[in-house]
Amino acid sequence: MLGNFRICDILLFCGICFCSINLNTTSTINNYRGVGCKWWFAGLFSCAEERFIVMIIILKPDIDPNGPEMSALLDYLSQFPDVKTRVSGVRGTSRVVNELYLIGPTHHVPQDTIERMPGVEKVVRVSSKYRQIGRHGGQMDEIGFTYKGIEFNQESLNVFMGPCAVDTPEHVEIMFRNMQRVGVKTARMGAYKPRTSPYDFQGHGKTCLPWVFELAGKYGIKVIAMEVLRAVHIEEIRDALEDAGNPTGVMLQVGTRNAQNFELLKAVGSQQEFPVLYKRGMGLTIEESLNACEYIASEGNRNIVICLRGIKSRLGDPHRNLVDFMHVPVLKRLTRLPVCVDPTHSVGSKDRAPDGLLDIFHATAQGIIAGANMVLVEFHPRPELALCDGPQALTMQELDHYMADVEISRKAYLERKALAARAVLKDWTGGAQG
Ligand code: PEP
Ligand code: MN
Repeated sequence: MLGNFRICDILLFCGICFCSINLNTTSTINNYRGVGCKWWFAGLFSCAEERFIVMIIILKPDIDPNGPEMSALLDYLSQFPDVKTRVSGVRGTSRVVNELYLIGPTHHVPQDTIERMPGVEKVVRVSSKYRQIGRHGGQMDEIGFTYKGIEFNQESLNVFMGPCAVDTPEHVEIMFRNMQRVGVKTARMGAYKPRTSPYDFQGHGKTCLPWVFELAGKYGIKVIAMEVLRAVHIEEIRDALEDAGNPTGVMLQVGTRNAQNFELLKAVGSQQEFPVLYKRGMGLTIEESLNACEYIASEGNRNIVICLRGIKSRLGDPHRNLVDFMHVPVLKRLTRLPVCVDPTHSVGSKDRAPDGLLDIFHATAQGIIAGANMVLVEFHPRPELALCDGPQALTMQELDHYMADVEISRKAYLERKALAARAVLKDWTGGAQG
């Protein structure tokens, strides 16, 4: 028993030492080990019991790891003999952050006392749940990334638009040309389609990739969200991009039907070249979907966007799915990932309310006004000819109206956020009247 505990403890200890907690930083250790094994040790956390909560003490920038403040900290911590300590330097973009990792039964260690000690910037408790992507009490930095010059984080908003499935070069070109006209550089486009019926169009597969990528380059499209069904599709996309001279980028999409395909999750997670758009399982709880994202992250790739796309329930009728966009703030609270909404697959029709707005517009607004960071929406120049999901696609005629509506919702969200900040400040400064 004692032996088991020791091994487990050591593995957990090693694991946390290989984790950078600042998402915009690169650990010197990680650099040394190489990118491929950046999060390798994180998988070892699974042997830890709930009581082995990890604590990270982040020191102020000017604190010498060999100086008196660190000695005082280590002296203080020596009264908790079961808690092991390890100093680590994490190289950020502008400074080296010195951190002290505490492993063991840290629930006895008083966080507020340590926070008041000289040289301490902040203290973070890392719970065992969602170790890679979790927010851990709101104290960890968000997970954000820049890909092909486009920012993805919990503040940004990007609209990815395009057909459900790639069909003809003419349609793809019309789509890209119109996107360029309205200044949108992020597209969605399926080459590999998981269809409910084996007799339905399954996508053109790798044969369409060369001309799709070439056209994307021609119209300044920077990123295309593209679903992959198998690990080999990642290779095909990588090869086609390389052959085309990398004119654009791809965000690998894990569709709702593969939301718990753990081998696929590992495949998209174990490469670092492409970011991943993970779509919530249509019948999965938030917890199950977040564990799936954790699979991706624990394999080494934390450039993940999580997408709400509606959940399967007859209670959503007449919509295709029950719109679940109230989970946007929930996901932002539980994780540090950018959150996407997919109004098209949630609603699944072009029905219009008496106020003149399509339900898809309303669903989009709900997602954005709740703080969504990305929208995935289907457009097609000739929906009646689309080989997949035509009836729910918006048209080129609806594009300008859609983008103007997006802008209104985004503005409203930013105003709500600013109002909330003012309200909190007022509370803190005693502005509230009893
Ligand atoms: C899609 O976005 O093309 C798609 C098939 O979505 P989902 O996996 O959410 O059904
Ligand atoms: Mn579709």
